[in-house]
Amino acid sequence: MRLVLLGPPGAGKGTQASAIVKKYNIPHISTGDIFRYNIKMNTELGKKAKTYMDKGLLVPDELVVSIVKDRLIKDDCKDGFLLDGFPRTVDQAEALDEELDKMSLKLDKVVNIEVEKDILIERAIGRRICKNCGATYHIKFNPSKKEGICDTCGEELYQRDDDKVDTVEKRIEVYHKQTKPLIDYYAEKGLLLNVDGTKSIEELFNVIVKSLEGES
Ligand SMILES: [Zn+2]
Repeated sequence: MRLVLLGPPGAGKGTQASAIVKKYNIPHISTGDIFRYNIKMNTELGKKAKTYMDKGLLVPDELVVSIVKDRLIKDDCKDGFLLDGFPRTVDQAEALDEELDKMSLKLDKVVNIEVEKDILIERAIGRRICKNCGATYHIKFNPSKKEGICDTCGEELYQRDDDKVDTVEKRIEVYHKQTKPLIDYYAEKGLLLNVDGTKSIEELFNVIVKSLEGES
């Protein structure tokens, strides 16, 4: 199963990714993780990537693609993989198709977790974190027993700046703007599988599995 997973921040992508890779016994390839690994191991690719990141610049597509390609030829990818965080642009998607083509492979599906903006905002702005132990709560969906106080350690809860409404809104807008062309690209290829991210974690996972297996 060769998959790409898309979804806005807060859509529950991480949870679904873990469940999917476990079910199909395929590696979860997050570009963030590969970058960190290559930099830590000081590989040639890692060194190159670091020169951009140190300057606060975006790593160029060409380099991102070669890092991903380098990962896809590893043994554990022979039965498939789940790509997360890549591709981000149509250029990257085309480059990925080319690389897979050279290996006589193709993507099976692009799973796109959809959640309406208002719900994403509600999920994010209600999040509270313990200053002391890092435990996370949600004022509506997972409240602490005593308002503003951590159940585990009794310390104060706070809201991250990232979770304030303006920041969240901006983050979602940027995501949609960047991702729309990519979604269109995969839709045209008949690979896109839109799923409703407002379902429960289990329900959503079942829908994804059913759709993946119904199509194969
Ligand atoms: Zn705590």
